[in-house]
Amino acid sequence: MQNLSGSVQTNHPLPSYLDATHLGPWGNYLQQVDRVTPYLGSLARWVETLKRPKRILVVDVPIEMDNGTIAHFEGYRVQHNLSRGPGKGGVRFHQDVTLSEVMALSAWMSIKNAAVNVPYGGAKGGIRVDPKKLSMGELERLTRRYTSEIGLLIGPSKDIPAPDVNTNGQIMAWMMDTYSMNVGATATGVVTGKPVDLGGSLGRVEATGRGVFTVGVEAAKLTGLPIEGARLAVQGFGNVGGTAAKLFADAGAKVVAVQDHTGTLFNSNGLDVPALLAHVKATGGVGGFAGADTISNEDFWGVDCEILIPAALEGQITKDNAGKIKAKMVIEGANGPTTTEADDILHDKGVLVLPDVIANAGGVTVSYFEWVQDFSSFFWSEDEINARLVRIMQEAFAGVWKVAQEHKVSLRTATFIVACQRILHAREMRGLYP
Ligand code: GLU
Repeated sequence: MQNLSGSVQTNHPLPSYLDATHLGPWGNYLQQVDRVTPYLGSLARWVETLKRPKRILVVDVPIEMDNGTIAHFEGYRVQHNLSRGPGKGGVRFHQDVTLSEVMALSAWMSIKNAAVNVPYGGAKGGIRVDPKKLSMGELERLTRRYTSEIGLLIGPSKDIPAPDVNTNGQIMAWMMDTYSMNVGATATGVVTGKPVDLGGSLGRVEATGRGVFTVGVEAAKLTGLPIEGARLAVQGFGNVGGTAAKLFADAGAKVVAVQDHTGTLFNSNGLDVPALLAHVKATGGVGGFAGADTISNEDFWGVDCEILIPAALEGQITKDNAGKIKAKMVIEGANGPTTTEADDILHDKGVLVLPDVIANAGGVTVSYFEWVQDFSSFFWSEDEINARLVRIMQEAFAGVWKVAQEHKVSLRTATFIVACQRILHAREMRGLYP
């Protein structure tokens, strides 16, 4: 039951791993849900659904290392909500992956998929491993064993993984092959983000960055911020940050600062983005690039710029650095880069935040196109894919913008209002069974 202050009374205490007092990504997500509850009307009756993942699987992933020893890794697959369709969301390989993080990422997938109205629930997976320390053979054995272990949950109409941090087309190819071998038939639609030769989609690799750019341009139009000449700071220069930086630079913006795990670069005249992309491809990071000065990691946040794109990991913009941010607009390429406290600081400073759950939805949107193409065995041209992507992102963003104006709330709360209404309406219509 919802009380008048908008908080929700829980009829039964939450299991310990769902407890919001353990702040971290899952606690951050729960705070976001609490903010939206007062706007859900009669659907608020179902809101507890969003506070408990439907299904959590924790698996042991043993592999034989090249030196003959046996190593064990912890793997997860969380299906947060399946009300609107099969589970959908990436798989992350990172040494800091935790269950709480994967739970939050799965929940943000539910919100994101509903926000852009693709017919999926939300899911996410991960392995607690530093993949850079593994040989190719070890990485393949890890991926295949993990896929087998989560095989009871995934499937083209059940739950469809995709790339996320430190996973790529090769890893998706191994996942697709392992699942296919186990079921005895090639099932290309079990994962998305595959190489194009294996049922992957044109435009999928660039899709998240293209979506970031698309919503950025829409928001810039609405707020009267010219992209031509705008200064950009980008954290994370991988698939998402690198593509977004390139598209903004092509549109006349100046990328003045970039940061990744290898360092922070600054050039007030704008970095040469194609040269930096080539450097990152060759060396694995931005560090050591000749065309810029190196600044401290902390100074990155205070750089003079109009647009800031966090496109790395969650929890990067915190109460400690939010006050320094000079940008007029923050476009969240990463999932969960801003803590709730930092969100409030940015809001009070008048910084417009384009939240992850809409801003980075371009990736899963083209994943949806890939899955549809796999089912129909009919593949579209890249122009067709990009045009459809842009249309979906523009329409979804316009809808969220309208709700934000109507209720005088942040774009994050507005996106949650749109998405939670869709999810909980589906939940209500389906009813409880058994
Ligand atoms: N990992 C991406 C995300 O966080 C894409 C997920 C997908 O394509 O299923 O949105």
